[in-house]
Amino acid sequence: MEDYMKARGRIFDIQKYSIHDGPGIRTIIFFKGCALRCRWCCNPESQLFDIQTMMFEGKEKIMGQDVSVEELMPIIKQDIFYYNRSGGGVTLSGGEAMLQPNFGPHLLRACHEYGINTAIETTGFASWEIIQKYLPHLDYVLMDIKHMNSQKHKEFTGQNNELILENAKKIAQSGQVDLTIRVPVIPTFNDTHEEIYDIARFAASLPGVKHLHLLPYHRLGQGKYEGLDRPYLMDGIDLIPNKHMNSLLETAKKSGLKCQIGG
Ligand code: SF4
Repeated sequence: MEDYMKARGRIFDIQKYSIHDGPGIRTIIFFKGCALRCRWCCNPESQLFDIQTMMFEGKEKIMGQDVSVEELMPIIKQDIFYYNRSGGGVTLSGGEAMLQPNFGPHLLRACHEYGINTAIETTGFASWEIIQKYLPHLDYVLMDIKHMNSQKHKEFTGQNNELILENAKKIAQSGQVDLTIRVPVIPTFNDTHEEIYDIARFAASLPGVKHLHLLPYHRLGQGKYEGLDRPYLMDGIDLIPNKHMNSLLETAKKSGLKCQIGG
């Protein structure tokens, strides 16, 4: 057996038959650990690399397990038929899959060995050296750009945006992958026409980028904060009305990109 099949990493979930995280029907592998702390995060159990206990429906649930590429591939391969029929494949998500460079690229490589299409959902918050380890094994990169103002970005996510914007440019310029920009649209953070237009204009300036996805804020992860005994910082903040989302979509389209609501 090849050495890369023995590489081990830490994940907290596997979701099959997803249609929202890249083209076609996909298996999503959720990596543990993230460098950001977005106030609206719907996967708070993803943020710490440590294995945690979360209360779920009155029971303790262990969040996080260490797995090898060799152990994951049979699960991924079960659905090759669906990937092939739908143009789907595997998507690494999280957390931030770029934070496990001794595992993520090997898993992607194994998928390619079996002819399985690969994608990553990423914050882009990683060194360029690490990103370069992933790119040769990726077909699609779905990258979040959350805000163009670094101070506001830091206030709501815990990190500045300079590295992210720089990496978006470098990934686009590399020409190695199909890059789509995604924007979580978050009330009180970036849900104005000015903020969305600024992001869309930046996305349109990236060579090869054709698509922009606006992802409306939702509260599906709220219960997990209770389960982790953490406060939900978005409490009392309303969802974005459909009418406003649609008008933000029209604003984003002025960038010339193909824009849609949802992933
Ligand atoms: S980047 Fe994603 S996983 Fe990380 S804290 Fe933000 S929303 Fe959560």
